[in-house]
Amino acid sequence: MNSLIVESWNPYRSDDLVATAPAASRDDVTRAAQAARTAQAEWMSIGPTARGAALRRIGDRLEQEAGALAGLMVREVAKPVAEAKGEMARAIGIVHYAAQQVLDPYGETYPNDAEGYLLTQRRPRGLAGLITPWNFPIAIPLWKAAPALATGNGVLLKPSPEALGCATELVRILAAELPEGLVALLPGGAETGSAVVSAADAVSFTGSCAVGRTVISAAAGRGVPVQAEMGGMNPAIVLADADIERAAADLAYAVTGYGGQKCTATRRVLCERAVYDDVVAALRERLAGAVAGDPADPATVVPPLINAAATERARAVVDEAVAAGATPVYRGEGGVALLTGVPARAVLAREELFGPVVQVAAVDSLDEAVATANDTEYGLTAGVYGRAVDACLRVAERLDAGMIKINAPTTGVGLHTPFGGSKASSYGPREQGKTARDLYTQIHTITLGTP
Ligand code: NAD
Repeated sequence: MNSLIVESWNPYRSDDLVATAPAASRDDVTRAAQAARTAQAEWMSIGPTARGAALRRIGDRLEQEAGALAGLMVREVAKPVAEAKGEMARAIGIVHYAAQQVLDPYGETYPNDAEGYLLTQRRPRGLAGLITPWNFPIAIPLWKAAPALATGNGVLLKPSPEALGCATELVRILAAELPEGLVALLPGGAETGSAVVSAADAVSFTGSCAVGRTVISAAAGRGVPVQAEMGGMNPAIVLADADIERAAADLAYAVTGYGGQKCTATRRVLCERAVYDDVVAALRERLAGAVAGDPADPATVVPPLINAAATERARAVVDEAVAAGATPVYRGEGGVALLTGVPARAVLAREELFGPVVQVAAVDSLDEAVATANDTEYGLTAGVYGRAVDACLRVAERLDAGMIKINAPTTGVGLHTPFGGSKASSYGPREQGKTARDLYTQIHTITLGTP
C-alpha cells in the first residue's frame, strides 16, 4: 500500500485484490466531518422512535445480505466461514439491540432542598471517530457505530486497510437508511486515522497497544474523550479438579480459532502441577486436530494469518522462544504451536503474538497461579477451569482482567455486556451494552428553580 492508495488483498489467494480506494486526506476528513455535523442535526431532530426504526431497518438489511457479507469476510480477512457467519449473526444482534436503546431513559432527577427540580440529561457528543482493526471487520465497526448512532451522533469510520472491502459494504448498508453524510467512510492508514482523531468529538479505537497509546495521547491532548481496546496476554488457569478433556477442548478452540487472531484468545495456560502432564497431553492432541487451510472450507479452524509479515513474525517469535530454551511440545500446520518452559526473557513470554500459539506452565499453589496470571502488563480476558465453583470464584475475583470466564473459553462475550480490559489492554469507558453510551454521550445537569 502506498500512502495514497489503500489496497486490501486476500490472505489465502495472494493474487486476489479484494478492494482498493484512495486514502482520505486531512482535507477529505475535514469535509466529511462538516457534512456529518450537518446530518447529525437532522438525525437528532427526527426523534428517538424514527432513529430506532432506521437502526432496525439496517439490521434487516444486514440479515438479507448476511451470506454475501460472510463470504466477503472469508475472502478479505480469511475468516473461517463458520466464524464469519457467527460474526454476521452478532452484527445483526448488535444493531437490533441498539435500535431498542434509543428508548432508554436518558436522564435522572435528583432531590433538591429548594423548590423546583434538579435534572440530568445525556446528549450526544456530536461526531464519533472510530478507528478499527481487521480481525472483526463488520462486528467491531458496528459495535462502535450502532451505539454512537443510537445516542444521536454522526460517525467517521477509519477502518483497517486490510478490511476495506467489508467496511465499504457496511457503510453502504448504513448510509441507505441514514441522513446523507451522517456516516463517513475514511479509508487510509496512520495519517487518516490521526486526522479522524483531530476531527472527532469522541474517539473509539480498537487495535494494538502501540497505536492505541498514540491515539489516546492525541485525543487527550485535544481534550476529547477516548476509549481504546488493545491487546492481551490472556491466561487460563486449570485447577486440579477440572474436567481435563472439557478444558482442553475449550482451550484448543480459544488458542486456534481464527488462527489465534482474536484479542481474547488464550495465550497462556497455567496448570496445577497434579494435572500439568494430563493438560499438556490433552491440549497437544486437540491442537493436532485443528484443521488448517482454506477459510472457505467449513472444517477449517486455522486459516493463513492476515499477511506475510504476520506469518513471519509468528514463526520468528516461536523460533526465538525455542532458541532461548523453551520446549516445542507441538508445532503443526498453520503455525499452531504449544510450548512449555518459555523463559521470561523470550518475546513470547511478554508480548502478544497474534497467532495460534500457546505456552503452558505448571504452578504449585493458587497464589502462584494468580500471581503468574497477573504478571503481565495486559489484562483483557482470563479463564479458570475447575469443578468446585467456590474455588473458581475465589480465583476469578483475584484475576486482574476485564473479562473473566469460569469453565468457558476466554474468547467470546455477550453483545449486551460491558466489554473491556484492565491495565494496558484498555483505556476509557467500557464498550457494548448499557455502558457504551458513557463514551458517546455527555451528562448535562439542569437546575429548574421557581420563577
Ligand atoms: P493496529 O493497531 O495495527 O491498527 C488498528 C487501526 O489503527 C487500523 O485502522 C490502523 O490503520 C489504525 N492506525 C494505525 N496507526 C495509526 C495512528 N498513528 N493513528 C490513528 N490510527 C492509526 O491493529 P490491527 O493489526 O489492525 O489489529 C490487531 C490488534 O488489535 C491486536 O493487538 C489485537 O489484540 C487488537 N484487538 C483488540 C480488541 C479488543 O477489543 N481489545 C479487539 C480486536 C483486536
